[in-house]
Amino acid sequence: MKDIVIRKLSERGVELMAIAAIVSELQKPYNPDLTPEVCLSTVQAVLDKREVQHTILVGIALDTLAEQGHLQEPLCSIVGEDEPLFGVDEILALGITNVYGTIGLTNFGYLDKVKPGILRELNNHPTMVHTFLDDLVAGVAAAASARIAHNIFRKSSPQR
Ligand code: MG
Repeated sequence: MKDIVIRKLSERGVELMAIAAIVSELQKPYNPDLTPEVCLSTVQAVLDKREVQHTILVGIALDTLAEQGHLQEPLCSIVGEDEPLFGVDEILALGITNVYGTIGLTNFGYLDKVKPGILRELNNHPTMVHTFLDDLVAGVAAAASARIAHNIFRKSSPQR
């Protein structure tokens, strides 16, 4: 299942390194020693979760169906045009973000506003529909970043 998700992401223009780059940008201020390898392996760990895999498959399916004109109206136009008041794309992605608690939530809000790296590319794509995918990718990056933050905190806090 995870392999299918990684392949689908790649088909839609998202490589895991591009997600890892966002994680690195989010966490570097708190952890200057963070390596690209750790960021990538953390993204992989987020993608191990079954609920994350399912959420990504649903979002990509909706984007693709809208792109092909195969959703019923008015949903097809709403998703196809990424209507600003739609909001279901963000709600779906929160299912990913929530896997590692509230740090993921604030990270997600930040990414949704600033749209660094691959998120901007997805958002500005001239032909493909990425209404769900940009939020899914932000959700994975936010969750991976939260996972790293939790691991750092666990190491630095005194044993009880
Ligand atoms: Mg969106």
